[in-house]
Amino acid sequence: MADDCIFCKIRDGEIPSEKLHSDDDCFVIRDINPIAPTHLLVIPNQHFAELSELGPEPNPAFAGMFSAARAMAEQEGVAESGYRLIINQGSDGGQEVMHLHMHLIGGRPLRGLGLR
Ligand code: 5GP
Ligand code: ZN
Repeated sequence: MADDCIFCKIRDGEIPSEKLHSDDDCFVIRDINPIAPTHLLVIPNQHFAELSELGPEPNPAFAGMFSAARAMAEQEGVAESGYRLIINQGSDGGQEVMHLHMHLIGGRPLRGLGLR
């Protein structure tokens, strides 16, 4: 657990936030400031700030994150209409919370590549 990491605190229940899904790899919450009718955050349980902190070997949590995203898209009713998965990496990527996470955004047509 990284000190003062908001997503670690949500993971550990220190900050209350409804978990829509939780498993050995990751958990899913609604973004507090949604940009679309569906805006979820798929967050690995393991704290690492960004991709560059990981070694070259594949991280098994990523496979679990994509499985969770697929299941959540079904649950949210956006699997057929489509959605976007985004990881903001680092400063130019627009990353604000330094605990890697994947956005799942859908429920309206999305244009451009930006999150906001
Ligand atoms: P980033 O820019 O790092 O990819 O995205 C961070 C996201 O986390 C933002 O969309 C922001 O609205 C969301 N967020 C920040 N703090 C909280 C929080 O305490 N709870 C929830 N549910 N979302 C948060
Ligand atoms: Zn963290």
